[in-house]
Formats: sequence, structure tokens, C-alpha cells
Amino acid sequence: YSKGTSRRTLLKVIVLGDSGVGKTSLMNQYVYKKFSYQYKTTIGADFVTRELQIGDKLVTLQIWDTAGQERFQSLGAAFYRGADCCVLVYDVNVLKSFESLNNWHLEFLKQADPANPHTFPFILLGNKVDVDGGHSRAVTEKRAREWCNLKGSIPYLESSAKEDINVDEAFLWVAQAALESD
Ligand code: GDP
Ligand code: MG
Repeated sequence: YSKGTSRRTLLKVIVLGDSGVGKTSLMNQYVYKKFSYQYKTTIGADFVTRELQIGDKLVTLQIWDTAGQERFQSLGAAFYRGADCCVLVYDVNVLKSFESLNNWHLEFLKQADPANPHTFPFILLGNKVDVDGGHSRAVTEKRAREWCNLKGSIPYLESSAKEDINVDEAFLWVAQAALESD
């Protein structure tokens, strides 16, 4: 792979957010089209891959998941190194996970140290919108969008790994943005 010069492109995607927000589930839904209520950690691999066609480019997304270390915010330099884009995730039913976003955003910028932090491709996902028919929501869409604007027009989508809502869209958006920011 040589980024930018050939039609094959490898993009490293980092998925970040508090433990339990659904990072692993979103990834499993996107790559394997599977959902489970059982807590699973990623075993034996630091990342999974999925290919997708964007225009004339065959893009390989290398999606990096955590195996629970996010509880301690200690993901290590290798996790962040060479990231092309970042998917931030919170749970719309858990206020704390929304309040943690500032830390995750800052931590990413500090660790990955992108050349241009203002235009680096992030996306924010408000996950688990299926829960309780929306009655247990703790964060409004408006409030989430305000946070995104404050951080420099980060795109926002509401998702469900369970119902497969906006999962393909999220990874496609962020991959497109990463290609454009090459
Ligand atoms: P992670 O710690 O961020 O990787 O979160 P997990 O993917 O392990 O998910 C934590 C729990 O939330 C698991 O029991 C999942 O089945 C559940 N979960 C994840 N996404 C969703 C969703 O969109 N809707 C619902 N109802 N449950 C979800
Ligand atoms: Mg996980």
C-alpha cells in the first residue's frame, strides 16, 4: 500500500470512547454484521479490516479497537500512531460518557499529534439510540451538535450497533473525510 499514489489505500481508523458505549459492537456490526449483548473483548488482534470502494479507490479500513484498557485511558502510543481518522463514541443514555468526550478528543490530539489538528477527520457517534424507545436519553441531539461545533465542525450521527443504524454511514463518512484530507 502506498497512500495517495496508488488506487489501493490503507486507512487507520481509531475508535475511542468510554468503556461500555458500544465501540466493539459498532465494529462487529460494521465488519461482521453481528450484534451480541454479551460483553466481548477483542482477542488476538489489535485491529480488524474491511474493504470498501470509494470512487475509483479500493480502500482498506484498518479499525483499531481497545480490549478494555480505555477504562484507564492508557492505550499506548502504538494504538494512536499513524491514525488517519478517529471515531468518537458516547452512549446517548449515559451523561458521563458524553462528558468524557473532551478528554478523549484531547487525548487523541496529544497522542496521535496530527499535522493539522483543526482539519483532522473526526466523527462523533451518539450510540444506543434504540434503547427504551429513546425514553432513557440523557443527552439531546442539540447538545451533542453544539459540542461538535465547538470542536470545529465535527460531523455527528446517531447510531445503533444493535439495530444497525448509521453504522455503515459513520465509517464511510470518516473514510471519505480522511481521503479528502490527504
Ligand atoms: P465498548 O466497551 O465500548 O466496546 O462497548 P461494547 O461494544 O462492549 O458494548 C457494551 C454493551 O452495550 C454490550 O452489552 C453491548 O451488547 C451493548 N450495546 C452496544 N451497542 C449497543 C446499541 O446500539 N444498542 C443496545 N441496545 N445495546 C448496545
Ligand atoms: Mg470494547
